[in-house]
Amino acid sequence: MDTPQTLAEAIIYFADPDNALNYFVSKRWPNGVFCPYCGTKEPMFLSTRRIWKCRATRCRKQFSVKVGTIMNESAIPLEKWLPVMWMVANCKNGVSSCEISRDMGVTQKTAWFMLHRVREAMQDKTATKLSGEVEVDESFIGGKSRNMHAKRRAEVITGTGGKDKAIALGMVERGGNVRAFAVPTRRKHELQGKVRGNIQAGSALFSDALKSYDGLDADYQHAVIDHAVEYVRGNVHTNTIENYWSLVKRQLHGTYISVEPFHLFRYLDEQSFRYNNRKATDAERFSHVCSQVAGRRLTWDRLTGKGE
Ligand SMILES: [Zn+2]
Repeated sequence: MDTPQTLAEAIIYFADPDNALNYFVSKRWPNGVFCPYCGTKEPMFLSTRRIWKCRATRCRKQFSVKVGTIMNESAIPLEKWLPVMWMVANCKNGVSSCEISRDMGVTQKTAWFMLHRVREAMQDKTATKLSGEVEVDESFIGGKSRNMHAKRRAEVITGTGGKDKAIALGMVERGGNVRAFAVPTRRKHELQGKVRGNIQAGSALFSDALKSYDGLDADYQHAVIDHAVEYVRGNVHTNTIENYWSLVKRQLHGTYISVEPFHLFRYLDEQSFRYNNRKATDAERFSHVCSQVAGRRLTWDRLTGKGE
């Protein structure tokens, strides 16, 4: 059987531990296996345990394919991790931890942690700035408090002074990629800092009439559409980024029910990954996620804000 093209094929294919390992090794170490501790190439493969042992006399460490990846120290086998990655990479509205818990036979807490680690691998780390025609817009993303447990709702709503909505800032190159961030405020320094950090000077910039965008026309060809007056004036509009927000909201309201502001950026990373790989096939999107798991770690403490 060739490498899988659909989720159904992926589940069957990766149920074989050798298939799962070989596939994943080829994505993680495209130029051959090397020791994640010291970098020495061609370690010894201990086939019965499916791990390697470093040949360097000073190192001699043993390691699995998961060491130094988002799966570091995870007891969940690749046979489960890979289908989960497939689902997150390809389900347009995301997958909930409840679904993963049921489908994969893991606890909901484990599923939630797995999903966030996959999102960590989906994070876009490219440094190239957006250019050409770029739309910028901010959006309030709500915790749907009526769906929360009463105690949780009290915490969220009173605990943060009624602010159960988080602010996201998005920018999209027309015909190209999107970038979206969770931001603490809509103030000028915050929004313009992100604009300048992510959009090439000289680009055509389209935004709404929010005051925080005033002053960008020194560096950009800035055109404003005042939504109190009109939505489109020739090529001046923010429809592309509005479409992105509707994808985000469908994902958050349909699948995840409530998202705390602290975690918002992770859901944005997930949606942006799918948006930016929208022309790829399911198998290609999955392969892309697999190729980004190495060198990324997300510990429970960092995820929950307790450490680091
Ligand atoms: Zn080594």
